[in-house]
Amino acid sequence: MYESERRELADSLSMKGIDDIYVLKAIGEVERHKFVPAGLRNHAYKDAALPIGFGQTISQPYTVAFMTQAMKLEPNSKVLEIGTGSGYQAAILFNMGMKVYSIERQMDILHATQKLFDKMGIRVYTKYGDGTIGWDEFAPYDGIVVTAGSPSVPPSLMKQLAPGGRLVIPVGDKNIQTLKIVMKTEEGTFITEDIPEFKFVPLIGREGWKEK
Ligand code: SAM
Repeated sequence: MYESERRELADSLSMKGIDDIYVLKAIGEVERHKFVPAGLRNHAYKDAALPIGFGQTISQPYTVAFMTQAMKLEPNSKVLEIGTGSGYQAAILFNMGMKVYSIERQMDILHATQKLFDKMGIRVYTKYGDGTIGWDEFAPYDGIVVTAGSPSVPPSLMKQLAPGGRLVIPVGDKNIQTLKIVMKTEEGTFITEDIPEFKFVPLIGREGWKEK
């Protein structure tokens, strides 16, 4: 179902500058319509964020592709995602052959997404909790992708990054963020690249925004 729409979406992302063939292949294969509410299925292959309930969104496909590409992952890399949400970003990473760990702070979203993963045979290690402090038990990670906007880069996530690894995180105020790509060198120092103008829901937690 929706195969031609998926191919067209991948082609449109390629025209917008996504050039990692493995990312484009995953976009062309992962059934995004299964990650959106039933009433929005016909919009699933538009390059747009969509509401998934609980005040949250499934990220725009371009953003998912851009963040995935920015991690420059090798096959079989270990990746930590903060903000499981609908599960689409995790499914893209799983499709690309990564070992995926994902943390979500809203229990009801996580339960719904775990059910979907089981149904679709997507094997992602999930955890309920505050992702701003990472998941120390399985660190270090070759890539960390944060899918909610933070006031600053959480030090715990920088610590849990492997040498040569990349952390991709939107940082800014609650309305607009800069996407930061933080690379850890083999010596343990950090090099940061900034890409302007992304918009995410807030990252709420000990090393993110305080809960009201
Ligand atoms: N990655 C998701 C996808 O592919 O659909 C999109 C995630 S949505 C834009 C952001 C998610 O981050 C929300 O589900 C929200 O509950 C979650 N979130 C916010 N703060 C968090 C935190 N400290 N730890 C874990 N999840 C968090």
